[in-house]
Amino acid sequence: MSDEVEVPESHPRYESLLTRHRIEAGVDRGITSRQGLIAQGRGEAYDYLLGERTIESADRAERAAAAYILQADHAVISVNGNAAALVPGELVELAEATGADLEVNLFNRTEERIRAIAEYLREHGAEAVLGLEADGRIPGLDHERAKVDADGIGDADVVLVPLEDGDRAEALGEMGKTELVVDLNPLSRSAQVATVPIIDNIVRAIPNVTAHARELADDPEAQRDAIEAFDADEALSAAERAIRGGE
Ligand code: ATP
Ligand code: MG
Repeated sequence: MSDEVEVPESHPRYESLLTRHRIEAGVDRGITSRQGLIAQGRGEAYDYLLGERTIESADRAERAAAAYILQADHAVISVNGNAAALVPGELVELAEATGADLEVNLFNRTEERIRAIAEYLREHGAEAVLGLEADGRIPGLDHERAKVDADGIGDADVVLVPLEDGDRAEALGEMGKTELVVDLNPLSRSAQVATVPIIDNIVRAIPNVTAHARELADDPEAQRDAIEAFDADEALSAAERAIRGGE
């Protein structure tokens, strides 16, 4: 899959067009579902209203997320078809920088798509990719949606779930896991139930979490401060204000 698009980098909408192209190519390659195209469209609308930038409260969320991942006993980064299409290399880098595991976890689960995504992550440098065992279950969800790896998300105390479905986000929270959600919609249930809602485009969010993780890596006190300085309700309201009022 190439990053080539028919627009010059100087085009004012270059980033947005590149992102769309990646999702489209992800569908062609069998890693992104058709539902994923619709999700991307919803995300873009919110991003447009946010000014396609990382607002201050989102940066604080990204810093807190980095701290939670570093402090975890077992952190897992959940990867779906949109995340894989948009930021494969960035997800691998975050896993490497923090020691977190990568697990492919799909809402519309097919064996084929899981394999294709795992393969794509390996092409981007991932060593181990979880998600194929599917020998664990999230309580309270129907069979296909409940599947996780027992020694992956099943065992994790901290999970980063970009673009997760609301039901699953809720069920993971009920399992007592610390949930870090990336979602451009502050009103989405996924964002509402998260310990750390990151209201930002995944394309900007993941590299920024990695940058914060590198900075916080050897500093437990700074990690604690980052967690304490973050307030989920305040972050959700700040994002909503930015979207509705352009603040
Ligand atoms: P629910 O309230 O149950 O969560 P939903 O409409 O949010 O319902 P989802 O399937 O969770 O349904 O939708 C995908 C979510 O992913 C949307 O909220 C959308 O804003 C978000 N999203 C899509 N693309 C991106 C992106 N590139 N970066 C961050 N978030 C994104
Ligand atoms: Mg949602």
